[in-house]
Amino acid sequence: MPAITGEKYLERIDNLHSNVWVDGKPVQEKISEHAAFKGVMKSQAKLFDMQYDPSLIDIMTYTSPLSKERVGMSYLQPKTKEDLVKRRTMTQQWALSSNGMMGRSPDYMNTVIMALASSAPYLEDKDNCFPERLVAFYEYARENDLSLTHSFVNPQVNRAQFYLEDMDEEPIAAKVINKTEEGIIVRGARLLATRGGITDEIIVFSAGGIQDKANGFAFSIPSNQKGLKFICRESFVGGDSTFNYPLSSRYEEMDSIVIFDDVLVPWERVFYYDNLLVSNTFATKSSFLPFSIHQAISRQIVKTEFVLGLVQAIIDSINIGEYLHVQEKTSEIIIALETLKALVIKAEVEAKLDEWGIMRPDLKTLQVASTIFPKVYARFSEIIQQISGSGIMTIPTEKTFQSELREDLEHYLQSKADDGNSRVKLFRLAWELTMSAFGTREVQYERYFFGDPVKLSSQLYHTYKREPYVERVRDFLSEE
Ligand SMILES: Cc1cc2nc3c(=O)[nH]c(=O)nc-3n(C[C@H](O)[C@H](O)[C@H](O)COP(=O)(O)OP(=O)(O)OC[C@H]3O[C@@H](n4cnc5c(N)ncnc54)[C@H](O)[C@@H]3O)c2cc1C
Repeated sequence: MPAITGEKYLERIDNLHSNVWVDGKPVQEKISEHAAFKGVMKSQAKLFDMQYDPSLIDIMTYTSPLSKERVGMSYLQPKTKEDLVKRRTMTQQWALSSNGMMGRSPDYMNTVIMALASSAPYLEDKDNCFPERLVAFYEYARENDLSLTHSFVNPQVNRAQFYLEDMDEEPIAAKVINKTEEGIIVRGARLLATRGGITDEIIVFSAGGIQDKANGFAFSIPSNQKGLKFICRESFVGGDSTFNYPLSSRYEEMDSIVIFDDVLVPWERVFYYDNLLVSNTFATKSSFLPFSIHQAISRQIVKTEFVLGLVQAIIDSINIGEYLHVQEKTSEIIIALETLKALVIKAEVEAKLDEWGIMRPDLKTLQVASTIFPKVYARFSEIIQQISGSGIMTIPTEKTFQSELREDLEHYLQSKADDGNSRVKLFRLAWELTMSAFGTREVQYERYFFGDPVKLSSQLYHTYKREPYVERVRDFLSEE
């Protein structure tokens, strides 16, 4: 089956009946009707429907080399720089639909599986590695337009450098406890699957830092695999009203702990296991980093545009544009936006074919962008609060507007540019984006989106070629 519609997505996920727990209770109804998930699933369904919009079909899809059917553009294995532009355009088209609020729209993981499969030759002739299965899974995901969640991180029990779990105790971090004719058996937990339970499958992948080879593996299994359980945090959906909760009613993605109670991973879905070197190197040797950061920054650009639009709408509403500090703060957002746009284009211009014929965007440029965004995004939140003043708290609810108080609200809450209702709608958006549970999660999400920002900077330090500049200094000093 080629690219799917929204209806197909909802039907498929509902039919899985995955073991998902919210607030101490298993989800028993259709998950697409559960209060915690219905908004985001509806928003995601709209994304799939865009693949069938005749005006977008060439942006959203391409012809599969295998089935010759139209499949999602985020699965495209880029061979040219033009392909990279196609990938970015597609991601930004989807991101526009949620103004970048859905960090884990399906194109993120489609990109990851495309990148891993494109680097499958790295796994060839290595112990317990199965590159052909990884490629087969990529093709299966592409031809069926799967949605995927992922878990790359072990539970946060003890992050000391040389911490190893006691082998004799019940495992905490998921590990292979057995092998059978059918596959490997996994027991333990992994973090932190955003959208866990509302995707077709979950990919579990060791992204490095593995000390015990039993904890190192890569596989994908259906979200309803026997023994698999998703334990969600509390929902940050404020309610159904898009007036009150314009963002969480539509885009709350949910995060979940994933528990493996002796889960069988069939051999055809095991990409590697029991290989410490591969578990610690595949993430960096493969094109996982350049492609997934390229997707993430492309989305974050759209989100930054939305933040800029919101800030300017607040400025216009209460007429504060003449103040220099307001101009300076707005310029901070403009500078961040133009910097991110420039870096993505630079990464595409400096892309190179890798040893397996895939056009990789320039990693160091993207690493720079990925260390900038967590910092500026937290600052955006602060700027919105600073320019909003009490407006961000003068936000009566939709029901208050529907009551006999409406006339008071319309009169006293009007602003230079807006009537009372429109002004409160605007400031409720500012509040939800920066001060609600949804909004503060967004800051933490963007901060940790691509892993620990401290480690990202350290990676950049270790991989950036600085020798030529040192040489230049040495040469200068040696001149008479
Ligand atoms: C909202 C949200 C959604 C997420 N969604 C997903 C998801 O869908 N899938 C997924 O796989 N992951 C997801 N993550 C997890 C994300 O990948 C991790 O948060 C990130 O990799 C950091 O790991 P950690 O949270 O375990 O932090 P830790 O590694 O425990 O870090 C905690 C603190 O200790 C410091 N620290 C720890 N170890 C070191 C070290 N060796 N050197 C220096 N400092 C160190 C860190 O700098 C940090 O300040 C999500 C996280 C958040 C917040």
